[in-house]
Amino acid sequence: MDALEHKVRTDGLVISEKILKVDGFLNHQLDPRLMFQIGEAFYQQFQNAGITRILTVEASGIAPALMTAWHLEVPCIFAKKKQPNTLTDSGYQTEVHSFTKGKTNTITLSREFLQADDQVLIIDDFLAHGHAALGLNRLVEQAGATTAGVGIVIEKSFQNGRQNLKQAGLAVHSLCRIASLAKNQVTLLDN
Ligand code: 5GP
Repeated sequence: MDALEHKVRTDGLVISEKILKVDGFLNHQLDPRLMFQIGEAFYQQFQNAGITRILTVEASGIAPALMTAWHLEVPCIFAKKKQPNTLTDSGYQTEVHSFTKGKTNTITLSREFLQADDQVLIIDDFLAHGHAALGLNRLVEQAGATTAGVGIVIEKSFQNGRQNLKQAGLAVHSLCRIASLAKNQVTLLDN
């Protein structure tokens, strides 16, 4: 996706050979026009997949997930990283290891918002090793629902997330794929 690739090149800050900071448009400040276009790109890809729910995890997945839900005209739900006091049922739960924070969170989703007949599109901001997406897929499995696909805004293709998702039988569509962050430089994968 050209507009996103341009933003990644111009606004992305290489923190290390493994981490890219994109606080200027995705992880802290949000660029609404770009988020809208991201939603549109996922819509183009998944419009015929019979999606009934968009699922992400708070916080940075919410903006692209919501814009995708807007285009597909379905609800957007997000797993919470803290067990909320307001949860009225036991909820679906699983543990997810955070690549950037180096810690494990229990993520929770109310049973109210995901049913066995749902076709779910999982959306996340980054793909590194696939822990977040696989965790979200486990919540979908707990509900007896189906994951129809995984949409990723920025994939770091030099890590093994895509391979791990593929092994789990999940189809991944990424809007921007990074081949390397070596030498303090963003190198994109040729599509
Ligand atoms: P995974 O679960 O695929 O190992 O890692 C993806 C999650 O970790 C995303 O939800 C994202 O929040 C975070 N993440 C992984 N790599 C990066 C990165 O290079 N930059 C930023 N900003 N977040 C990342």
